[in-house]
Amino acid sequence: DIRFDDKTAIVTGAASGIGFAIAKELAQSGATVLLADLSAEDAAEKAEEIGHGAISCATDVAKPDQVEAMVKLAVAKTGRLDLLVNNAGIGGPAEPTGNYPLDGWHQVINVNLHGVFYGMRYAIPVMKAGGGGSIVNMASILGSVGFATASPYVAAKHALLGLTKTAALEHAADNIRINAVGPGFIHTALIDTHLDADTQSYLAGLHALKRMGTPEEVATLTCYLLSEAASFITGSYHLVDGGYTAQ
Ligand code: NAD
Repeated sequence: DIRFDDKTAIVTGAASGIGFAIAKELAQSGATVLLADLSAEDAAEKAEEIGHGAISCATDVAKPDQVEAMVKLAVAKTGRLDLLVNNAGIGGPAEPTGNYPLDGWHQVINVNLHGVFYGMRYAIPVMKAGGGGSIVNMASILGSVGFATASPYVAAKHALLGLTKTAALEHAADNIRINAVGPGFIHTALIDTHLDADTQSYLAGLHALKRMGTPEEVATLTCYLLSEAASFITGSYHLVDGGYTAQ
């Protein structure tokens, strides 16, 4: 039974989908959770829904000053920071590389890659000062295989894996473990925003288990990696993909 009593956690992109499921499982397992998302109202509403003392803030992870303020808020409210899930991510326009809009490229890289760096950049010093911590960066199966019309997304998710490995090497001596999770297609708002019903059922069929995953199935793995049960796991990438990449 995994417990996070007396721990403080930050989850970015926590007002929807996978981030919300992770925030909920952490809070139900004893952590004080800060839900960070673009809209203050959405984050506050979701924190209230979760209960268990969950708090919230408006944070755009693509803005380093806002990420720094998010970390400071967690420490100001709870006196510590133990766990971070860099989960916020966007899909971006669906275009082939030869036609990809430049602003769309920069937006996806800013959120999905720079946002993860900023999270670690500001959280790690606080974790180190507090004696250690654990971080999960939300990658994707698209961190290890390509996907037509999603070049910045795929590039950011691949890059995240190198960033995760390197930060894990650098901060192992600080008692901070850092891992990446690679979900297959998970039925969330991100999927409904970008893919029509036919495409969704086609993609579901590409998984060996012939369905998309649920946010809760990603939360279970993420919380395991964050916990003391995973005390010998760092710098690695863990799939929760229904067999998508096994084929
Ligand atoms: P979602 O759209 O349901 O939720 C994403 C949340 O992130 C939203 O609440 C959104 O407001 C927030 N967000 C977006 N930009 C932000 C920013 N700049 N700063 C802070 N918050 C921001 O998406 P999801 O499916 O739950 O995806 C969560 C993560 O999981 C993403 O990193 C995504 O790439 C990854 N992922 C999703 C799938 C999938 O199939 N759904 C698969 C693999 C990986």
